[in-house]
Amino acid sequence: MSVTENLKEIKSRLPAHVTLVAVSKTKPLEMLMEAYNAGQRDFGENYVQELIEKYNALPKDIRWHFIGHLQSNKVKHMAPFVHLIHGIDSLKLLQEVNKQAAKCGRVIECLLQIYIAKEESKFGLDALEAENLIASTQFSGLTNVKVVGVMGMATNTDNRETIKSEFISLKTLATHLNTKFGSKPNLNLRMVSMGMSADYELAIECGSTMVRVGSTIFGERS
Ligand SMILES: *Cc1c(COP(=O)(O)O)cnc(C)c1O
Repeated sequence: MSVTENLKEIKSRLPAHVTLVAVSKTKPLEMLMEAYNAGQRDFGENYVQELIEKYNALPKDIRWHFIGHLQSNKVKHMAPFVHLIHGIDSLKLLQEVNKQAAKCGRVIECLLQIYIAKEESKFGLDALEAENLIASTQFSGLTNVKVVGVMGMATNTDNRETIKSEFISLKTLATHLNTKFGSKPNLNLRMVSMGMSADYELAIECGSTMVRVGSTIFGERS
């Protein structure tokens, strides 16, 4: 199946309130252009250098999502154009995004990456760390970022019940934090970024509003 056909198939399964982020890491420009010509505008990348190269080469109405692990010293490269940063996992990183956004005269929207999996290797904050970050006075002073949701990755397992309980815990946390801190001007947790190729339909059942799908659109990565 072609990229165009794959996109059409996935789109037909998504409710209208769910945004599809096409994860294009390691894929060539031609494949992204095929998706673009099929109407896709939200693309996700994991590596800063690759993101910059693709941004420079492709149409400027693409909304670029940074979904990888972000180092503070790389933020400045994407600050002029990035649409949404999914992987905020510390106050320090958020402060750097705020600083670089201010230099560009922008407010950059961000998601807090929450650790929901039973695996050592996944990055992110736990529920208490996320709450402490949002509750801090430093956070309240960040006027050039807006935290608009949470992002998480489920355990890499075939056990659907495990994945489901992790997705539900992320959705529940977003609701809880929004109720408690929703009056802060730089916080509005309306997005829940969860679900990838293998589990996006389950994620939507559990309240996802944004799915990040790569291999089902573009084919397996080598
Ligand atoms: C690579 C990646 C995806 C897409 O994974 P697929 O299984 O190819 O759909 C989604 N989210 C993150 C954070 C990724 O790194």
